[in-house]
Amino acid sequence: MFEESAARSMIKAVSWRVLATLTTTLLVYAFTGRTDLAVTIGLLEAASKMVLYYFHERLWNRLNVGRKPIAGSHPTGVPALASPTGMTDTLTSPDPTAVAEAGRVLETDTPLEILRWATDRYGPRLTFATGFGAEGCALIDMVGRHRLPVDIFTLDTGLLFPETYDLWKRLETRYGITIRRVGPELSVEQQAAVHGPELWAREPDRCCDMRKVTPLVAQLSQFDGWITAIRRDQTDRRADARPVEWDEKFGLAKVNPLVRWTTRNVWAHLLEHDVPYNPLHDLGYPSVGCLPCTSRVNAGEDDRAGRWRGTAKTECGLHANVDGATEVGHAGVRS
Ligand code: SF4
Repeated sequence: MFEESAARSMIKAVSWRVLATLTTTLLVYAFTGRTDLAVTIGLLEAASKMVLYYFHERLWNRLNVGRKPIAGSHPTGVPALASPTGMTDTLTSPDPTAVAEAGRVLETDTPLEILRWATDRYGPRLTFATGFGAEGCALIDMVGRHRLPVDIFTLDTGLLFPETYDLWKRLETRYGITIRRVGPELSVEQQAAVHGPELWAREPDRCCDMRKVTPLVAQLSQFDGWITAIRRDQTDRRADARPVEWDEKFGLAKVNPLVRWTTRNVWAHLLEHDVPYNPLHDLGYPSVGCLPCTSRVNAGEDDRAGRWRGTAKTECGLHANVDGATEVGHAGVRS
């Protein structure tokens, strides 16, 4: 999926514009029989497309004010992409001011437009941590169907539901992509040997920290931007979330393509595009995490009621440190 360069995408976009202009010209000629009228309208359409393209490029350049070239390589060995201007992309370090400005400019853009902006802006230093929740599946669908060059990984605690492992494979097969496995330092067996059996039942915070938080922090330190599935209607704290914003905790840009969507939007997208999703969502598990810590939710209960049931714990620990570390905890909506 990383083979399709931005330059190739640009050639494709221009080809489509030329084809559309020719089609318009032929249609006008077919309906009126007037060559002069058909050519005039065709030229007008071509001119308007050039003007629009010009302003699009200006906007793109404006959003990239503050890029600071640095040396480096992609943590997964993904080659640098060609930039939309045809030049070889230079890896950049993110600039909080430029990120804030981009957040304002992208406010009315669609999730796909925001994803496209992010891939142009951060190239191979953009990643997406998914837990295969409904939002994550919708984003994987957009990335996969549109062949966007986005690194994707999942935190595999070794304790996920068989249905989640199966969904992981189905998504890879469906879109022809690889979703990297990021695991904790210790296997489940090693953790039991060192810290005693079923640590999740005794010290779930410690278990989450070792199996989720620490690996996530290590991953994000290698990127300049990460995609999350944050939506404004999820919590009060997220009501002010922007399409792109600076992530103070991890020191990189946070890209939130679904920020203006609701749960209804997410599920409409999954159904419209026949996107694979976790069958547990249909069986009373609106939020799916690790198998030992997730139970079915009863009618009238909160979506998160099945997570760490019987304990005071409600989040895997990421939210205590970072607002918006969504999706990484294998949740349908939140981690
Ligand atoms: S959700 Fe449960 S099993 Fe998974 S890492 Fe956290 S405490 Fe451990």
